[in-house]
Amino acid sequence: MFERVERDGITIHTVPSLFMESGIGIAFSERGGGVSAPPYASLDLAGHVGDDPACVDRNRDLLMESIGIGMLRDRLTTAEQVHGALVLEATSALSGSGSGVAAGVPPVAGADGLWTRERGVPLLLMFADCVPVVLARPGVPAVAVVHAGWRGAAAGIVGKAAHILADLPGPDDLTAFIGPHIGPCCYEVGPECVSHFDNRFVTITAASAHLDLGAVVAADLKRSGVPEGRQWHLGICTAHNTDRFFSHRADGQTGRHGALSVIL
Ligand SMILES: [Zn+2]
Repeated sequence: MFERVERDGITIHTVPSLFMESGIGIAFSERGGGVSAPPYASLDLAGHVGDDPACVDRNRDLLMESIGIGMLRDRLTTAEQVHGALVLEATSALSGSGSGVAAGVPPVAGADGLWTRERGVPLLLMFADCVPVVLARPGVPAVAVVHAGWRGAAAGIVGKAAHILADLPGPDDLTAFIGPHIGPCCYEVGPECVSHFDNRFVTITAASAHLDLGAVVAADLKRSGVPEGRQWHLGICTAHNTDRFFSHRADGQTGRHGALSVIL
């Protein structure tokens, strides 16, 4: 389902069959091919982590050009990402929110998930270990992009977005694409976090507790009408692959890769 594509030095994980079928484009970006300096090297897409805003804007230009949607640069729409559970509709009035970091254009406030039925409104959220989820209703068409760290996952943000898309009229075709995120191999968590999951999804040994965020998201999706057969997990651990992805757990101060979706 996923294909790894490199163009102009920029690498994304994408789903060509979905684009062919419905015009819905998906890109989970890697960290190479950008202009940011360490510790943000190099395709840092986030305006809130201390990187040079001009570099972040240029990186967003480069990503969008490499996937052939440079003409939609001004309509790029981002969210504030506060580790909450708010999913908002990116209407045409909101398109372009957060598009320019140097220009100080604010992102959609308070949201960790965006969805849209508008054609030509690219949605972009940023990640360094948290789980990126793109939800698609090809027959509508409609898409959602969701940011799920453990707090958002515990609050059910992915299921919430799934219900929003599932409620739109059209064929029963809701599908989920889960991008790169920290795996249970590298995600040791404390008792406060564990308590939110009733010890489910957590491997506890005498020495440590490891949370499987991908399993949390998979279960939430299943409960919300997306069976395992319509979930596609990329299955790459960000903390294990810091040459290709940003990892807050592994690297501390670092950049953010992206999950982008657009209906063309
Ligand atoms: Zn790992």
